[in-house]
Amino acid sequence: MPESYALLVERISSSAKIPKEEVERRIEARRAKLSGLISKEGAAQIIAAELGITFDSVSLRISELMPGMKKVNVTAKVINIFPVRSFDKNGRSGKVANLIVADETGNSKVVLWDTNHISLIENKDVKAGDVIEIRNGSTREGEIHLSGFSELKKSSVQIQTVKTETNFSEKTIDSLSENGGVLIRGTIVQMFTPRFFSVCSQCGKKVNQEVDGFSCNEHGKVVPKERALLNLILDDGTETLRTVIFSDQLEKMTSLDKLKDPVQFEIFKSDLLGTEVYVKGMVRKNQLFNNLELSIQDLEKADPDKLIEKLEKN
Ligand SMILES: [Zn+2]
Repeated sequence: MPESYALLVERISSSAKIPKEEVERRIEARRAKLSGLISKEGAAQIIAAELGITFDSVSLRISELMPGMKKVNVTAKVINIFPVRSFDKNGRSGKVANLIVADETGNSKVVLWDTNHISLIENKDVKAGDVIEIRNGSTREGEIHLSGFSELKKSSVQIQTVKTETNFSEKTIDSLSENGGVLIRGTIVQMFTPRFFSVCSQCGKKVNQEVDGFSCNEHGKVVPKERALLNLILDDGTETLRTVIFSDQLEKMTSLDKLKDPVQFEIFKSDLLGTEVYVKGMVRKNQLFNNLELSIQDLEKADPDKLIEKLEKN
């Protein structure tokens, strides 16, 4: 992310008392030496480490977080708390709690493993809307993890505006992990026949078909709304990934009527099959197949000109 890169350069510059231009020059030189195999942010971290700069005692903004950081301190507002889960895996049992925190620059999932931290959630000592201070956390793929050595407490800091939009990070399919917003560039290698179903026009849940119409478990007899879903297989050269597109997104690309018409569907399909696209969405675990699946929120054909421009820039 360019935003986090700029902040990182600033931090290195002020901590090491080196002009920003010089910091950037060193970063670029390091990247060139490594044949551009690492990101600008990655190179910045190496330069920081070489200059003896640690981010240990400073409070970081969420957009500055990068995978693999240790002793991370963050102050952020809790925007969502998921139910505490119990697990019993490989002879280890315990609880885990997930929350989403945000500041002005971005948002991140926080994973709690320590029972003392989890009890703060269970006892509602920490609720959505509270600002919390995290010390000694570590980062993994877009998440902040807190162990028994980490600290979690409520903060009196006020955070007014928070960035709640998902951060979509560009990933390859072989590096995906569960529950994250990702951007993938890949080729559509397979498209299945769309499936249609009816939902309640009031709550959007599935309806039951009866002799004289449809009924919703909650709303009784209703006039249903028709919805569709389409499964695609994406291949980015590292692996293949099953994806699903739901009605809202699907209807931006075509109409449900066209999807139902076999001839029109063939035209739609042949336009996309074998095409390189950018997709944005959330990675989820498909419980039925026990594999990762991408729920697509945005699909765009990869524009060759834009791609070349981007490659040249990097
Ligand atoms: Zn309903």
